[in-house]
Amino acid sequence: MTVGQEGFRICQFKLLKIVPGQVPPPRQPVDPLAGAETTFEEQARRYISQDRLVRDSRVAVAVKKLYDNTCQICRERLIVSPAGEAYSEAAHIQAVGKPHHGADRLENVLCLCPNCHALLDRGALQLTDDFHVINGVTGQFRAVLAQVKGHNIGIEFARKHRERWANRLQ
Ligand SMILES: [Zn+2]
Repeated sequence: MTVGQEGFRICQFKLLKIVPGQVPPPRQPVDPLAGAETTFEEQARRYISQDRLVRDSRVAVAVKKLYDNTCQICRERLIVSPAGEAYSEAAHIQAVGKPHHGADRLENVLCLCPNCHALLDRGALQLTDDFHVINGVTGQFRAVLAQVKGHNIGIEFARKHRERWANRLQ
């Protein structure tokens, strides 16, 4: 059991595929807030779990390709294999899923390295209306967001993201 953003109690179940002939695994309660130590961590956890719902969408693949896996904030390109394979993450600016309802569209997605993705998801990096990246904690300028032709980032998503973190609890 958990309590949703609007105060309703929510009963959650983890669905497991049962293979014919196999003994079903024992039922286990799901605790979405396990390990959450502070209200802020709890808030961040909910926000992030919603964002990760569609991380491997067509849009995610497209944005990684547009930037050749190079982070739009710090310009890092992580090489993860001898063959030169690179790793990046598609980050929704406004989180998708309830209650944020961000769109899974190219206009709402950035190609980021895991560090910048984690910071953005927690509001520690935010975007201005000029698409400058600022430190969400201190408000200091961090970088100009890299943007290639054909990637028209929606200013409304940056605003929603800032609004989201303007109301953080801690
Ligand atoms: Zn980065």
